[in-house]
Amino acid sequence: MRVAFLGLGIMGSRMAANLCRAGFDVSAWNRTRARAEELAAAHGAEVADRPADASAGADVVVCMLPDSPQVEEVLFGPGGAAEGMGAHGLVADMSTIAPSSSRALAARLAEERGATFLDAPVTGSRPKAEDATLTIMVGGSTTDFDRARPAFEAMGSLVLHVGPQGHGSMVKLINNTAAAINAVAVAEAIDLGERAGLDLDALARVMAAGSGASAMLDLKAGPMRNRDFEPLFKLDHMLKDVRHCMAEAEALGAPLTMASGACSLYERAAGDGHGQEDFAAVLLAVAAGKSRSVA
Ligand code: NAP
Repeated sequence: MRVAFLGLGIMGSRMAANLCRAGFDVSAWNRTRARAEELAAAHGAEVADRPADASAGADVVVCMLPDSPQVEEVLFGPGGAAEGMGAHGLVADMSTIAPSSSRALAARLAEERGATFLDAPVTGSRPKAEDATLTIMVGGSTTDFDRARPAFEAMGSLVLHVGPQGHGSMVKLINNTAAAINAVAVAEAIDLGERAGLDLDALARVMAAGSGASAMLDLKAGPMRNRDFEPLFKLDHMLKDVRHCMAEAEALGAPLTMASGACSLYERAAGDGHGQEDFAAVLLAVAAGKSRSVA
């Protein structure tokens, strides 16, 4: 099975490597060519000059890019992947974008090329991308899902068809918004614990053993306490996801109260220059918002 892989950032580079390891024939394109060359040297992928060269003859075209403007450009811009695709083409967009954008891209691809589209975002950060244990939630037809499933199974351990086009993106946004709110709750707990002069190991152990436990506590309390914001998931991307989710909720007449509070903290952290750091850096915005800062 031939896979075109477009976008080799924190996630894409690891996901594409797993496809190579699983024996897929991978043609890789990245805006910064050196990353595609690294993948070729380490795992035997083929380097494509343009997205259209990667997509020609591919059974599945995977995108792993920041947001819908970049996905649109890589699919439909000059030399874009759509140029290399025919009526049997299939795009699996694994980036996190707005559901309305997923549906619009799917409609344009069908109209211009007769090709089909799955929104197939992922959860699990760099470590799960590395060891192929991502959760992959897929919106689109079951026929297309079955066609792409072998590739998904080489990248993830929980692969779920969740509904029609756009539902993969919506499930993903809801999940990440809950995580973003949770990370703020963890940051507030740590910040308050520091201000109160608590033994933070004791605080973390009590929370982990009880009703304060969460995935965000497990994953982000350590980096927050150590002020280690090496990016596994960039704060700018988390902010994007919360904003998309809030916009969807507004459109459904169901504005999100907690997400709105969390969003302003991520905005503050991004505004203070932490957008390219891990979203654990939201701790700095939590601390900066208090009258006496300890950050
Ligand atoms: P990333 O490290 O920032 O990588 C972004 C990729 O997009 C890079 O390959 C970059 O190319 C490319 N790119 C950026 N702007 C572009 C443009 N204008 N035209 C063409 N290519 C462009 O992001 P990531 O962490 O891999 O995340 C990718 C997607 O997955 C995002 O939607 C994110 O929300 C989602 N996601 C991330 C995680 C995570 O934990 N990291 C988890 C789940 C979902 P260059 O190499 O040239 O910069």
